[in-house]
Amino acid sequence: MTTSTEATAERSRVAALPVEEKVRLLTGADSWRTFGAPALGLRPIVMSDGPAGIRGITKDDRNPSASVPCPSALGATWDSELIRELAAALGAEARGKGIDIVLAPTMNLMRTPLGGRGFECFSEDPVLSARLAASYVTGLQSAGVGAAIKHYVGNDSETERWTYDARIAAGVLRELYLVPFEACVREAGAVMVMAAYNAVNGARMTEHEPLLRGVLKGEWGFTGAIVSDWDACRSVAPTALAGLDLAMPGPDSPWVTGLADAVRAGQVPEEVLDEQVLRLLEVARRVGALDPPDGQAALARGDDPPLRSPGGLPPEPPAPDRRFAPSDGPGGNAPAARPPSPALLRRAAASAFVLLRNEAGALPFDPASIGSIALIGPNAVHPVIQGGGSAAVHPAAISAPDDALRTALAGRATVTVTPGCHTWETVPEPPARSLTDPVTGEPGVRLEFRAADGRLLGAEHRNTTVFAWWGDGLPAGIGWGEDGTISLLATYRPETSGPHMVGAAGVGRLTLTVDAVVAAAGDTPVPDDPVETMTRPGEVTGVVELTAGQPVPVRLDFLPSAEAEGPLAVRLGMVAAPDEEADLDQAVTAAAAASAAVVVVGSAETTESEGFDRATLRLPGRQDELVERVSAVNPRTVVVVNSGMPVLMPWASQVAAVLYAWLPGQAMGEALADVLLGVAEPGGRLPVSMPAQESDAPVLHAVPEDGRLSYDEGLLIGYRGYDAAGTSPLFAFGHGLGYTSWAYDALTADRADLAPGTDLSVEVTVRNTGPRTGREVVQAYVAGPALGPGRPVRVLGAFGTVSAAPGATATVTLTLPARVFARYDEHTGRWDWPPGQFTIAVGRSSRDLRLTTAVTSG
Ligand code: BGC
Repeated sequence: MTTSTEATAERSRVAALPVEEKVRLLTGADSWRTFGAPALGLRPIVMSDGPAGIRGITKDDRNPSASVPCPSALGATWDSELIRELAAALGAEARGKGIDIVLAPTMNLMRTPLGGRGFECFSEDPVLSARLAASYVTGLQSAGVGAAIKHYVGNDSETERWTYDARIAAGVLRELYLVPFEACVREAGAVMVMAAYNAVNGARMTEHEPLLRGVLKGEWGFTGAIVSDWDACRSVAPTALAGLDLAMPGPDSPWVTGLADAVRAGQVPEEVLDEQVLRLLEVARRVGALDPPDGQAALARGDDPPLRSPGGLPPEPPAPDRRFAPSDGPGGNAPAARPPSPALLRRAAASAFVLLRNEAGALPFDPASIGSIALIGPNAVHPVIQGGGSAAVHPAAISAPDDALRTALAGRATVTVTPGCHTWETVPEPPARSLTDPVTGEPGVRLEFRAADGRLLGAEHRNTTVFAWWGDGLPAGIGWGEDGTISLLATYRPETSGPHMVGAAGVGRLTLTVDAVVAAAGDTPVPDDPVETMTRPGEVTGVVELTAGQPVPVRLDFLPSAEAEGPLAVRLGMVAAPDEEADLDQAVTAAAAASAAVVVVGSAETTESEGFDRATLRLPGRQDELVERVSAVNPRTVVVVNSGMPVLMPWASQVAAVLYAWLPGQAMGEALADVLLGVAEPGGRLPVSMPAQESDAPVLHAVPEDGRLSYDEGLLIGYRGYDAAGTSPLFAFGHGLGYTSWAYDALTADRADLAPGTDLSVEVTVRNTGPRTGREVVQAYVAGPALGPGRPVRVLGAFGTVSAAPGATATVTLTLPARVFARYDEHTGRWDWPPGQFTIAVGRSSRDLRLTTAVTSG
């Protein structure tokens, strides 16, 4: 801990800074960095997005990132240890990329299955999300980088996300939406909190004094800094007074132009700025960005204060010091954790897969006897490994399902692959092998940056046709409002003869020339939300006739729009024009000829993303029809769902098996092969309820009315909503079969009388009654005394995992925290422990409860 003398000296140094210097420090220097202040020993703090990988300050194929399973997949692991391990590895990767703060995890709840960023959330349940998010933060911060937990709070939809006003009752906030944040602040010591774009109950979150200064900094004792979501700081005094500490990105923000004047006008006391700067210094200290100020004695790193309040998780070791020393190299004096290894990514993905249905032991396949597998589906050919938006990274490599299955079955069984139908909304990228750089002759493309007069400003060889610049990487003269152009040049070698679809996407003017003829050209509109310049920019398309094996020159010229803002992105798409009827027929023929059909269906690349919500839970395109036709000809049809959030599965009862694979990151193929062939158990359990039909979902709207999003359902989201309505989900929260079966033999509580405000421990003994070693997620739910309308029937109180060999028993102790026996009293503003009898039920899902016991409270 800094001594009180040092703290006083630091306060004095900060107070003595000119107001302008304080103001300068409180807005980013650019998209991802803050300013440094040598007089304070402060170097710039560097940030990168998460949570499904560490993008770094550029998204670039030459500096790839590990793509880990999306957070809903991590939620499906119900495995705090695994998440801690993965997050520590992400922390190590962040350090290697020179990152101090990772903008993650996202811990908003899956309020509606339509939420566009649902894939970025862990679950629909506050206890599950809190436990996993706290592990994520602890793991990440153990590597010496800080977590900026987001988006505080009520950021549960994407429609009008910049402005909507979430109307949430105080008790609902406390009992649901604030719970994961509270755990990450109080128990895991998160270094930063990101204030969301939206408003809550009439006040923008960046101006929400009661929730920022009151709850977060006051009640929870948060000593780090509150950063705005990008461009969410939209006022001067209201944001500063409410408790916001840092406006991102920079170099512009309302504070830059107005904060010094507001101080001089007496609207904002200068002490507020001092507090903001001190909090930034505290963050810097935690991540090793603070050196002793000129002429001061060194601060002892090992004495840094843990940012946590008592009673939480054990304190983390202090962040390793990497300060300024360039000789440290990437990662400075690196911690033990290594960036995510291929083996870890593969294990994590398989642990997240949820086996929803498995009739007559359809899975796993026996590699020795399976003979032939027809791999079918749009996502078998174009797997969607991650969701869109700020969470997306450029992975080094993607393991494709067909390659992985062929490798695993080499010499033992045949694997065919066919798409069956198509779901893309923009023309897909051409296969990497079909393009060469016309200048170097290497596989890939050439990028040229030119000034308006044609002068070459720069050129690069690249191995992708999808580009995004978000801060760094573009030469001066290229950007929104500049008049320079970006050109992509390549030689394309078609694999088939006939019509090919071509597409160019980006916000601005696009001209796509194939074989010296303009194939598509036009201006695309500026989207309302800047992130859509990257996630779904407008596209111009055309059709060209090509001959197999005959290379053609391709050129895409892009003049970025004068009006747009946000990440600057451009992409080229080229694909042989599909004949969907023929593709469906081909898939059915392949399925009929194989011993088993594996149909990989799911989201298209643009289905799930930051910036917009889904309009429907239906699978895009003709995928339902594809599954139905395939399962009609092959009784051993296994459907793999490649979606980050629930989809409708009208065919679920007709197929032999259903495996939910989420958006599993770059190891998708290998993990899928492991699970299909029984090398790994599909270890996951649903972190979100799967509706049988859309109308059964407790909350099926993400669209504000007159700018307001009413959380009228109160506490009844997810399984709580199904329980209250008495409807059955298609697959319940917590459900997942694995490859073995379990009996629940015993449940004992550590006492029968529960004093208000105390935790309860229960011991659960389970027995593996199946044929192979497996892992069980033991779930404990709490049903309270009748507490009136709007109260959930039961809530998840705790969970734990056990492993056991066939026939063996295992015992797990679960601690149900006091809060699950409480409710928040909106009138007194306090937690209340109602007296009465509580039933503790343990089992395999919220709808498969095997044993109960009762305790009396009060
Ligand atoms: C997103 C944040 C993200 C930030 C920086 C915002 O639009 O809401 O989650 O961290 O951009 O990319």
